[in-house]
Order: sequence, then structure tokens, then C-alpha cells
Amino acid sequence: MENLGGRRPRTGAPPGPVKLAVVGGGWAGLSAAIRLKQSGHSVVVYESAATPGGRARRVPWRSLGVDIDNGQHILLGAYAATLGLMDELGLEQEAMFHRMPLSIESADGGFRLKAPRIASPLNLLLGIAGARGMRAGERMSLIAAVARLRLSGWRTSADATVGDWLAETRQSPQMIASFWRPLCVAALNTPVEQASAQVFAHVLRDSLGGRRSATDMLLPRVDLSALWPDQAVRRLVAGPAGSAAWRPSHTVRQLSMGNGRIELDGTSYDAVILAANAASVQTLLTQLPARPGSADYLDMLSAFTYLPIATLTLQLESPWPDPAPMLLLREDPARLQFGQWLFNRKAYAKTPGATEAALLHVVVSDARALLGHGRQAAIPAIIEQVREQTRHRAPMPKVLKQHLIVEKRATFAAVPGLRRPPNSTPWPGIWVAGDWTDTSYPAVLEGAVISGKRAAEALMSAFRGQTPFEV
Ligand SMILES: Cc1cc2nc3c(=O)[nH]c(=O)nc-3n(C[C@H](O)[C@H](O)[C@H](O)COP(=O)(O)OP(=O)(O)OC[C@H]3O[C@@H](n4cnc5c(N)ncnc54)[C@H](O)[C@@H]3O)c2cc1C
Repeated sequence: MENLGGRRPRTGAPPGPVKLAVVGGGWAGLSAAIRLKQSGHSVVVYESAATPGGRARRVPWRSLGVDIDNGQHILLGAYAATLGLMDELGLEQEAMFHRMPLSIESADGGFRLKAPRIASPLNLLLGIAGARGMRAGERMSLIAAVARLRLSGWRTSADATVGDWLAETRQSPQMIASFWRPLCVAALNTPVEQASAQVFAHVLRDSLGGRRSATDMLLPRVDLSALWPDQAVRRLVAGPAGSAAWRPSHTVRQLSMGNGRIELDGTSYDAVILAANAASVQTLLTQLPARPGSADYLDMLSAFTYLPIATLTLQLESPWPDPAPMLLLREDPARLQFGQWLFNRKAYAKTPGATEAALLHVVVSDARALLGHGRQAAIPAIIEQVREQTRHRAPMPKVLKQHLIVEKRATFAAVPGLRRPPNSTPWPGIWVAGDWTDTSYPAVLEGAVISGKRAAEALMSAFRGQTPFEV
């Protein structure tokens, strides 16, 4: 009876699928919609944007006439729910991803950790043993920190930050600067001083605590919408007319309920999944009458704070022949050199055209400092940073054009003690999904996919218990 509140069973209703809606066509919403459709329900997906994928979608770089991503993304072999969903959609992982074993290499050559393709945890041990830029004591502290975390069941104290945990495990300032800091901000988009040690431990558990393949790094070879959201939409609209619908460029503004049904912008549904960002979900839910627990639920939604991510794309005169798909950049904020990771599209894109092959992406997570100094000042400084730090590699061709995308509310800040809402809500017939729900992951793609799947399963199980017909 979960989340159906006081709604009466629709006794006497004709057997058949229930009519459902999903608000939000990001990775969470589409993951939910596919499950619902697979179970034979009629589902309508409303999405504000024209393109599926949400924060992980393709956007046009108009002046260049190419599509790029809303921001460079990286997935892990540990993303079992996402990879499983892609399999179900009939998408071949080899064609979609450039898969490489765990590898962190700095552009300037000062740091390199490459895990060999052997069983876990031996791959990590040998990777650390052969790493460049670490002293013997630092190798031991790194191994000891991960081993201790594993022995504790990947648990840290609930209110500890990653910074506290690094101090407790005696990581050197050099290791923090060259390894832990970039890893933490890349995984949680939150700096070590503020990031939750427990959420970081969950990321380490799912990658380092699993099989070797879980530590693999997966770079999308196609744009993020083409990775699976486009295919999900094709599946949703396939089949008997009216059984599923994709409503792009439609922002849902009104939510109401009455007579055991939910109304979205005047259309009535048996149940809905709100898979928008937490702020939009809050705006919609506040239109509903208060219920027991609803004030606390809304408080959780309003407690999130957000941090930006910037992706600077550079168009080069010709493709950069350097073989590394992904390199770590050393930050130097005093010189406005905010770049953290450099991606060379030529090294991993699927049959790139001439323009796409000549693109580099520079990622700046927690981009508050960049925004504080202004784009005009930061862009040339970051280009100079890339040139300086790759000097000893293949010469980088001239930069012809640049395009900076800043997603101001890229992810919630993964701070200690954050209360995250479950998929069920205090309102009958309404579930939520999104990377911000209580998945234990930080704001990442896998969390979004898992959340969508769980919301759909919770909705279906509630209906199985409540309605007289099989769903
Ligand atoms: C620049 C950047 C880089 C990132 N890098 C990584 C990475 O490397 N690896 C990783 O795993 N994760 C990364 N992430 C995080 C990842 O993109 C998100 O966790 C994931 O996309 C969240 O999906 P979602 O479906 O929960 O939310 P969203 O993608 O935000 O989807 C919500 C959707 O709801 C729509 N919507 C909102 N309100 C309404 C409304 N009222 N009516 C209709 N539609 C509405 C929105 O348009 C949006 O499409 C990154 C994020 C950004 C921004």
C-alpha cells in the first residue's frame, strides 16, 4: 500500500495498464519511464528541453556546427545499473565507450598511477607500487588508508569530511594535492574540506571494493544523448499508438490531485514520478495540500546547496596527436589556471569527423573560483595552462576557437549530514527520482539511473498491492 495513502482501490476498473507520467527526461526520468513501459504501462514523459538527457545531454556548438556535451562526463565500470540498462536497450558497450583500466596521469608527467589488467585488489596494489610521483611512505599510507576503509565495511564517521579522513589516515600534503584532491572533486564536485567522507567512501567501495572491471574508466565515444537517452525515447514511442509518449519542450507548471488521481497541467494520471531537479520538484510539490510528513519532506528538498562545473572546449587547428585520452592538470588558482582534467577527443571519439577530432575539453569541477574571476580572464589562462603542462608531449596545435559551458547548479554539494529524500513522498500516487534522492551515491549518472529504477519499482509494487488488476 506504499504511498497510495487514503486512495481507494479502483475496484471495478477494467483490467489493463495504468496511466502514468514522468516529469523530467534526464537519466533518472528515462530510466524510470523505460521500466514502466517494459511492464506494460502507458507512460508520458514531459521534458523542458528539446533533447533527452537532462544535465547529461548533447548541445549544439552553433558557430562551429558540431554537437558537444553539456559537460564532459566519465563513467566507471562500477556503473552496473547504467550499463545493464544500455544492454537492455540493445546498445553495444564497446561501440559506445572507450574503456580503459584505472589510470591517472598528469599532463606534465610528474604523476602517474596505472592499474594493470589483473584481478582486484592486486591491480591496485601493483598500480600503486609502480606509480610515479609517490614516495615509499606515501605508497604505504595510500594502501593502508584503502585497506582500513575496506576493513571497516567502507564506513567513516557520519560527520567527517574527506579532509578529516585524509588527516586521520596520514596522507601527505603532496599526495593530497596530486591525487586525493583531484579525485574527490571529480567524484563529488565538492572540495575535500567540505566533502562527506562517507559519500566518498561509497564511491571507493563501488570501484575499488568490486571486481577489477569496476575500476575501469569509461569515456563516452558518442554524445551523451546518443549514449542511451535517444534510444530510450525511441523505445518509449514505439509500439501501439498512445501507449507511451515523449513530450519535449514542455515544462510542467501545475500539479494537483483529486478523486484519487494526479493532474499535471490539466491532464489526469493514476500516478506520477517527478524526476526533475530537487528545486523544480519542490516547486511542484508545494502546490499540493499539506499532509503528515510533508513539511519535513519539503525541508529536505530545500536544504540542498549546489556547486558549478565548467567545461571549456577548444577547437584546434588540427587534431592533437597525443595518445592519452585523459590527463590530470595541475591547478594554479593564483594564475587563474583552474583546469583539472584534459580530454583529447581524437583519442576516444567514435569515428570523429575532422572538426570533432580536433576538440579538447578541459573540466573545472567546483568552478566557483573561475566564476568569481570571470570567464574573459579565465579562458586564456586555462589555455596557457594546458599549453605549459603539455609542453613535453606532442606539440599542441593552435587554438582556433573556444566555448565555455558553465552549469551553475551542476550537482548538489555532497556535505556530511545531508538528509536525502526517499523515492516515496507523503503524497499518494507521487514518487520522485533524481541523483539527489537517497542512493548513497554523490550526484552522478549511476545514482540517477538507480533512482529512476527504484521509483518505478516502488510505484509498480504499490499498484500491485492496491489495484484489482495485474500490472
Ligand atoms: C558539467 C557536468 C559534469 C558532470 N560530470 C559527471 C561525470 O563525469 N560522471 C557522472 O557520473 N556524473 C556527472 N555529472 C552528474 C550527472 O550529469 C547527473 O548526476 C545526472 O545527469 C542527473 O540526472 P537526473 O536525471 O537526476 O537529473 P537531470 O539531468 O537534471 O534531469 C532532470 C530533467 O528534468 C527536466 N525538468 C526540470 N523541471 C521540469 C519540469 N517542471 N517539467 C518538465 N521537465 C523538467 C530538466 O530539463 C532535466 O532534463 C555531471 C554533471 C554536470 C552538470
